[in-house]
Amino acid sequence: MTDDNQVSETVETGITEGGRSGAFRDVLSKNHARRGKPPVHFADLTDDERIAKAKELGLPKFRVRQLANHYYGHFDADAGYFTDFPAGKRDEVAREFFPTLIREVTRQVADDGQTIKTLWELFDGSKIESVLMRYPNRTTLCISSQVGCGMGCPFCATGQLGLTRNMSTGEILEQVRIAAAMMERGEVAGGPGRLSNVVFMGMGEPMGNYRAIVSAVRQISAMPPEGFGISARNITVSTVGVVPGIRRLAQEGMPVRLAVSLHAPNNALRDELVPMNRRFNVDEVLDAAHDYYLASKRRVSIEYALMRGINDQEIHARQLANRLNHYGDNWAHVNPIPLNPIEGSKWTASKPEDERRFLEILHNAGITATLRDTRGQDIDGACGQLAAKTNNA
Ligand code: SF4
Repeated sequence: MTDDNQVSETVETGITEGGRSGAFRDVLSKNHARRGKPPVHFADLTDDERIAKAKELGLPKFRVRQLANHYYGHFDADAGYFTDFPAGKRDEVAREFFPTLIREVTRQVADDGQTIKTLWELFDGSKIESVLMRYPNRTTLCISSQVGCGMGCPFCATGQLGLTRNMSTGEILEQVRIAAAMMERGEVAGGPGRLSNVVFMGMGEPMGNYRAIVSAVRQISAMPPEGFGISARNITVSTVGVVPGIRRLAQEGMPVRLAVSLHAPNNALRDELVPMNRRFNVDEVLDAAHDYYLASKRRVSIEYALMRGINDQEIHARQLANRLNHYGDNWAHVNPIPLNPIEGSKWTASKPEDERRFLEILHNAGITATLRDTRGQDIDGACGQLAAKTNNA
């Protein structure tokens, strides 16, 4: 692949053209009308653009650094109360740099207050969600990068919703800032603490919104006042297997972890479960994932939703182990996760004994694998379900 433009275009638009090759499905939501763009936020601007905008407001350059200190250093976007700013300028700064991009609609709390799932409304009425999970040694935020998802995986609630639109960098980053502020202020059970990990595993296919997610990763990981100071090593970008996106991410030089949602070890099955497989098949996806491991030195996560009688049998575990061992030892970590089924769907969760057997076969083949934590299952399940229900309401 040498055509940079082609790579860039493929990554940027992801899957939004209704199947460029005709080999995969693009599900556009009925909500997919022209909605306009989200208001421009401080996080959407380069430093030069911030300085230029400040100048328009009659503010000198050093004020931009002050704003960055508030935003990244103190997780504070409430410019109306920035007492180090001239009182007469605060409202204007709030309006021009910090428009409200996400508004809390509902909050569901589980696991004794240590899991908080929030449904957010965006400027155009779209709904997305994020989940904050506190553990003894870390606190992880799972964020959304698109409204809905166009990948059309038939077992997934978000897949049924279709793709409405990409989120802006500001909309993505605001999920992180608010969670970091909640942790700092002690609003999550367990007292004040620090948001330590961010995973792009909420709604959407991150590689379908490549430019925005890379900008978000840079701003999450840079040290204040350029970013929130969460180590790139503690950030995970997931993908259903958009190969050009994986390859491009490998060249960014950021040690983020890659998670690949494989869900099936062979093409016949994966074609059915993950329509994107008809565009980039299992071999191409695993080749790219292994190359990512070589480039980043970060072990790749293989996500595998276990579905009863479909992909959870011994033969599937053996095929998966063979595929992974083909590339050598210790480069991938498998996370089987029991499927949280959509009501009325033919795809349902595996039997516990099948889950155990699946793990055992992987372990016996020398593959590291842990049944993924299903935090928050008691507050309405897996990725996308809460938003899917509300958007359809
Ligand atoms: S499983 Fe992931 S990639 Fe597939 S439709 Fe759902 S959110 Fe999109």
